[in-house]
Amino acid sequence: MANILIILVALLFIGSAVFRALKRKTEAGEEPENGPPEEVEPGPYLLFGVLLPFLGGCAVAYAVWAFFPLFVSAAVLLGGRVLAVGIALASAVDAFAAFRKRDSDAKAVRRKGIAGAVVLLCGLAGVGFISHVRGAPSETPLRLKSPVQGEWRVVAGGKSYLTNYHRGRPSAQNYAVDLVKVGAPDASLGAPVFAPVSGTIQNAVNTRREAGDGAAEGNLVVIQAPDGTEILLGHLMEGSIRVKRGDTVEAGQEIAACGGTGSAVEPHLHVHAERGGQAVPLLLGARGVFAVRGDVVRF
Ligand SMILES: [Zn+2]
Repeated sequence: MANILIILVALLFIGSAVFRALKRKTEAGEEPENGPPEEVEPGPYLLFGVLLPFLGGCAVAYAVWAFFPLFVSAAVLLGGRVLAVGIALASAVDAFAAFRKRDSDAKAVRRKGIAGAVVLLCGLAGVGFISHVRGAPSETPLRLKSPVQGEWRVVAGGKSYLTNYHRGRPSAQNYAVDLVKVGAPDASLGAPVFAPVSGTIQNAVNTRREAGDGAAEGNLVVIQAPDGTEILLGHLMEGSIRVKRGDTVEAGQEIAACGGTGSAVEPHLHVHAERGGQAVPLLLGARGVFAVRGDVVRF
């Protein structure tokens, strides 16, 4: 339903651009009422009347494209994508119509130039905000083997409060990542979980049953890497854990199955790393992905 509403808005954008383009065409042959207008050179006209509004439209379209997966539920992603393409198309139609008509009225071109500059500034502000939220962390990240295989959606992750609800709960979890397997609801349930690093098992809890039973992380495994970093994998399935405290594991070894124990609204894998109580940002998998909410990653 929300998708349909957003797609209707996108169609409105395109429709109004086409309407303006057709209106321009019919007006093109008419004489202006107040005598010949102030002439504008083709160069400034192309810049202010055509290029600036078009670039503004493209920047807004890009910001909308990137905004939806970050902040809106995955269910309306299609609507967000169509809206972004709609805005880009509408600004292309507008720019093409302005180029064809070659409006020479200085006042109209100035107005269009100012409107274009405003749209461009808004678009650039949007792009800047998105890239700040998505940007790399300031701390040195830790490269981990992927703890899962297949296609997974990041439902929490990144350096911003806006994309990662773990931040400050406590601060050692500032760079925690929650992963949900793409597919049927509960596709994550039972998916194999692999040790993301070689090390020693420092803690393994295997007996918590349902969501809400015991600590927030539910059933968990904590692996201590040789450099002292601790990596916690949480919400694991009851009885699925194949390791115990004191065992040594190799990176890539299957150690458990994904579940929904602890405080989990749906089955998912929680992973975070800390060193001396400080959160360590993660780069996951062979490609070293810094996972941010909304990303879909193939491991
Ligand atoms: Zn989590």
